Amino acid sequence: MRIILLGPPGAGKGTQADMLSKKLFLPHISTGDMLRAVMGSGMELGQKAKAYMDKGQLVPDNIILDIIRDRIGRPDCREGYLLDGFPRTLPQAEALDAMLAANDNAIDVVLNIQVPLELLLERLTGRRGCLQCGTIYHQLYSPTKTEGLCDACGGSLYQRTDDCEASVQKRLEVYEVQTAPLIAYYEKRKTLQFINGNQPAHAVMLELGQVLGLDWEKD
Ligand code: AMP
Repeated sequence: MRIILLGPPGAGKGTQADMLSKKLFLPHISTGDMLRAVMGSGMELGQKAKAYMDKGQLVPDNIILDIIRDRIGRPDCREGYLLDGFPRTLPQAEALDAMLAANDNAIDVVLNIQVPLELLLERLTGRRGCLQCGTIYHQLYSPTKTEGLCDACGGSLYQRTDDCEASVQKRLEVYEVQTAPLIAYYEKRKTLQFINGNQPAHAVMLELGQVLGLDWEKD
């Protein structure tokens, strides 16, 4: 099954993709995570991507498409995957369709996680992650017991550089202009499903299960 998780930054795509990946045994492919990994590696490509990411801008389509082409061509993607944060522009969506069509494949479902835009600024600027184990917290909604330290492993918490207010404002603008048009694109292809992302993560997951025709209540 090939699934796209669509939605604005801060909608919870990463959290839901992580949970879905475990339930469906499909790889979770996050272009944001892949770019951050390249940035950490010190490669030139990472430096190039960082300049866009820190400002809240999109990394150019050609860079992203090279990364995706390589990733979805790997053996663990044969049975499908979950795309999180890709596609983000119409040219990316069209290129993905062309890549898949060349192998007689297609996207099965696009899950559009909806959250009112006015809630996203608070969600994103309060987000903190553990440097060691990656667990995500929120200063207001899910604070750690000891400030600045991860409950799970004691690691230090950090804030993504693009979660500062100026970058978040830019990312939300970029979403409206460049990514939101994908909703109409996938609606036309009859692959789109709407999910209410303005509820606790577990409730979002149950809704995703219903939409996918899977009964997770009993799990
Ligand atoms: P995310 O972790 O999905 O919020 O992505 C963080 C940042 O990585 C974005 O603000 C972009 O700068 C960059 N990025 C991630 N995915 C894409 C994509 N599909 N196209 C262009 N830029 C991307």
